[in-house]
Amino acid sequence: MKTLKSEKLFRQALQVIPGGVNSPVRAFKSVALTPPFIKKAKGAYVWDVDGNKYIDYVCSWGPLILGHAHPRIVRAVQQTAKGGTSFGAPTELEVKMAGLICKLMPSIEMVRMVNSGTEATMSAIRLARAYTGREKIIKFEGCYHGHADSFLIKAGSGAMTFGVPDSPGVPQALASETLVARFNDLGSVNDLVKHNDAQIAAIIVEPIAGNMGCIPPKPGFLAGLRKLCTEHNIVLIFDEVITGFRVSIGGAQELYNIKPDLTTLGKIIGGGLPVGAYGGKREIMELIAPSGPVYQAGTLSGNPIAMAAGCEMLSILSKHRSVYKTLEKHSQHLEEGIRDTLGRIGKNFQLNHVGSMYTLFFTEQVVLDYETAKQSDASLFSKYFSKMLELGIYLPPSQFETAFLSTVHSQADLDKTLHALHIALMASVSF
Ligand SMILES: *Cc1c(COP(=O)(O)O)cnc(C)c1O
Repeated sequence: MKTLKSEKLFRQALQVIPGGVNSPVRAFKSVALTPPFIKKAKGAYVWDVDGNKYIDYVCSWGPLILGHAHPRIVRAVQQTAKGGTSFGAPTELEVKMAGLICKLMPSIEMVRMVNSGTEATMSAIRLARAYTGREKIIKFEGCYHGHADSFLIKAGSGAMTFGVPDSPGVPQALASETLVARFNDLGSVNDLVKHNDAQIAAIIVEPIAGNMGCIPPKPGFLAGLRKLCTEHNIVLIFDEVITGFRVSIGGAQELYNIKPDLTTLGKIIGGGLPVGAYGGKREIMELIAPSGPVYQAGTLSGNPIAMAAGCEMLSILSKHRSVYKTLEKHSQHLEEGIRDTLGRIGKNFQLNHVGSMYTLFFTEQVVLDYETAKQSDASLFSKYFSKMLELGIYLPPSQFETAFLSTVHSQADLDKTLHALHIALMASVSF
């Protein structure tokens, strides 16, 4: 595998961009490699500047459920751009986009467009605080909700302590307003609610965890959160930035039949452009300026190009709902192949999968929360990852990320991937 040009670009990048990248995970630090610099992509494939071609399972970290450079999305972007890229004034496309989201996710009665998932979650929290008149929020260990201060929090020592900053620069005063519970552990949430009676504004959760690797909710976990929130007048926020329009047309809330009060969206709804959104009950959403007093704004929010790409994406998905069946069929095939190889090498590594999201954890222990995910052998993952990359398979460069399938990964792509996986696992696992 040639990497000369990427290495040169990375050296240049390190001079002028912190860590050489505009988002940390792209630097391949956890797998100790130089990241390939990508030149172009089409369908299920990406090409780097050295001419290597890869089958892509990152899919821009989730947005590209229809694959790269889908002709209809490219056309929508090109045609819209000709008529101007941003007006800072209302457009018909925004109304169409909002209408589509509300129709496809019925818990969303009103929606506000923003430019990223981070903006969506931080705005949703402000709104929940305003609505309840309370200040504390509960999040789950290992769940990621973007990089706003309130979410870069880890659990303090001892179950009942307040959260502590997980990054320098996050004020302790703010960190203490975020409480951290264990994913899939209703007891830990109950305890926090009990010890902070009538002080919790919101519980925010990835209904299927995707940012500590893929971890599905245990049966009853989400329903338990719903019940607790209703009983204690807490706003339940589903962060569906990954799962929205990925695990089903109505997101994880449709898959598990649970109605959150607010939902945050991103990734797929932008069709590969920078887009986020938050929405939910009318009664709550009407508090947002200018209809209410909760301030939130954005110069480029709802800009025509992003809306055109998003509308096209959602229209395609809603008109071709069979894509979710195809995706499930493909990931079943992948899962069977992976289990077959694991069986042959005598390893019971955990494979978690929901629809087109999956993670192979290098641990033989069931992975159901952050603690158990952390049991994975990260150095083994690194070996496996580099071998896969060498064999032309581009996976997320971290044990704690989710791989994504798109509708354009063909049977041949999957079989090639399984063949590579067999070789990579055989080479990585010492007998
Ligand atoms: C990616 C992600 C975010 C943040 O979105 P950005 O667009 O990167 O700011 C928030 N929540 C979840 C669940 C995500 O996966």
